[in-house]
Amino acid sequence: MAREQVLDQVAEETAVCTKCALHHSRKNAVPGIGPADAKIMFIGEGPGFHENEQGKPFVGAAGRFLDELLQTAGMRREDVFITNVVKCRPPSNRDPMPEELEACDPYLQRQIQAINPKVIVTLGRFSMQKFLPYAKISQAHGQAVRVKGRLVVPFYHPAAALHQPSLRTVVEADFAKLPEWIEKAGEVPEYVEPVNDEPEDDKPEQLSLF
Ligand code: URA
Ligand code: SF4
Repeated sequence: MAREQVLDQVAEETAVCTKCALHHSRKNAVPGIGPADAKIMFIGEGPGFHENEQGKPFVGAAGRFLDELLQTAGMRREDVFITNVVKCRPPSNRDPMPEELEACDPYLQRQIQAINPKVIVTLGRFSMQKFLPYAKISQAHGQAVRVKGRLVVPFYHPAAALHQPSLRTVVEADFAKLPEWIEKAGEVPEYVEPVNDEPEDDKPEQLSLF
C-alpha cells in the first residue's frame, strides 16, 4: 500500500476509533500531519484543547513554540511529519494512561512504517519511552541514539519548557544541535538497552496549558 494511503487510513480510523476511553473526550482525532515521505518525524504526547478543536497537532501555545524551535534548527513545519502517541485528547490534558498508550500504539507504528523517517524526534517522556523505555529524560534529552538503524533524538516537551523557564534554554540548545546530529547520524552508536534499570520517574511536570 502506498504511504499516503496508509496515512489516510489511519486518519479515517482514528476519527471513529473507540479502542480506548479517550474517544469520549474527542471532538476531532489528531492523527498527525506532514509529507508522507518526510525524512523527519516529530512525536509529541497528545492533542490539547486547540488540537482537539482543529484536528491538527501542535496548533496551540506549545505549537507556536515548536515552530520557533524548528526555525532554530533550520526546519520548516511543512517538511516534517508531526504526530502524537495518542490521537485523541486526554481530558484536561492529563497524562495518557498506559492502556491508552497501548491501544493507540498500532496507529503510530503504522505511520512510522509507512513514512519510514530517517530521524525521529520525541517530544516528552511518553514519546521517548516508545523507543528508549528505560531512559530518563533528564539524562537522555538532546542525545541522539540509533534504534534499529534509525536516529532517535529525545527532547523535553515544548509545553514543559513553556512552564519551566529553566528548561527553555535547554530545549532551545537541544534543537539547535539537531542539524549536527542528523549530519553525523552514521557515527551515532546503536542504543544498548540498560539492564536492571527501572523505568524513569523523574518527570518535569507538563502542566495544563490550554
Ligand atoms: N502537545 C502535544 O503533545 N501534542 C500536541 O499536538 C499539542 C500539544
Ligand atoms: Fe483510538 Fe487512539 Fe483515540 Fe484511543 S486515543 S480512541 S486508541 S485513536
